[in-house]
Amino acid sequence: MVIEAPALALQKVRCQECSKEKCATEVTVMGDCTRCWDCWVVHRKRLTEFLAADYVNCTTCGVKLFEQGNFRGYMSIIDGAYGLLCRSCRDTYAPKRKDLYKGTGYGAHLKL
Ligand SMILES: [Zn+2]
Ligand SMILES: [Zn+2]
Repeated sequence: MVIEAPALALQKVRCQECSKEKCATEVTVMGDCTRCWDCWVVHRKRLTEFLAADYVNCTTCGVKLFEQGNFRGYMSIIDGAYGLLCRSCRDTYAPKRKDLYKGTGYGAHLKL
């Protein structure tokens, strides 16, 4: 997604976690997920806990997400909690969750 700088400053962006409208300068974009700074702080904490728990299989189908040293998981919000999906599960899940993916680069790719 390419946005001209002046447009970026004015654009309202919806945080995908709390669904509040924020200025583009008040959000952080990580991969396909846009979060406000408040949610980012919470996310970092949860993410740390999540990774410490060492979930390395797809939450949905259980396939291993580490392959030859490469991590092939996609962080998603599933039923309000963090889950890791393999690519094919994410591609199935994402169209059902337009609320999460609409307006993201990945959502545009899926034509949500
Ligand atoms: Zn938020
Ligand atoms: Zn899967």
